[in-house]
Amino acid sequence: MANIKIDKIIRSKRKTIALVVTKESQLIIRAPFYTPLDYIEKIVSKKSVWIKQKIAEISKQPKAQKKEFVNGEGFLFLGKPYQLQIVENHPLDIELKDRLYIAQNALPNIEKKLTQWYRNQAIEKITERCFWYSKLTGYHPISIKITDAQKRWGSCSAKGTVNFSWHLILAPLEVIDYVIVHELIHLEEPNHSKIFWIKVRSILPDYEKRKNWLKNNERLLKM
Ligand SMILES: [Zn+2]
Repeated sequence: MANIKIDKIIRSKRKTIALVVTKESQLIIRAPFYTPLDYIEKIVSKKSVWIKQKIAEISKQPKAQKKEFVNGEGFLFLGKPYQLQIVENHPLDIELKDRLYIAQNALPNIEKKLTQWYRNQAIEKITERCFWYSKLTGYHPISIKITDAQKRWGSCSAKGTVNFSWHLILAPLEVIDYVIVHELIHLEEPNHSKIFWIKVRSILPDYEKRKNWLKNNERLLKM
């Protein structure tokens, strides 16, 4: 076998074998209950080029690092990195100017506070952009919700609610706009049909670039 390690085999009532490479570069095999191991290994070997390609793709993606909240550390906002500056006596816990200023006495609980701060910024910005694109497209959601989703950047309900993850506020504005337009058009076109993408393109001719950014940088949006 072409030296590919299988990290996990999940057996179930399914009828076919599926290979999954996770975001952590783990190879997971889903297989029917009584599939012999050598058969699975044969399939893995056959698919080795695809698996290696997948793993290479994932390792190229930028990784989110656990924040330490030290001076000079970078924090994203609307796609731009800002250096953290801890200030001894700052009137606000968190303030974004040329840098991200954080009051020294806010540090003990800073992760929670910063999440809340990002969330508030997201509510303001996403609502504003959503109204703008509603006017432009003529699709009006009955409400806009901000979620904590880590991967599902946007979604919408049959009832006409659109949901957006606050994590989007870390992404460039044009990427946020893409997710908003995507969900607004879903209000009229529930599936990713040809017409759906034609409608997206009619609003954002360069939507593919924005979509790719999201796909290639999703780890940057984790906090
Ligand atoms: Zn969609």
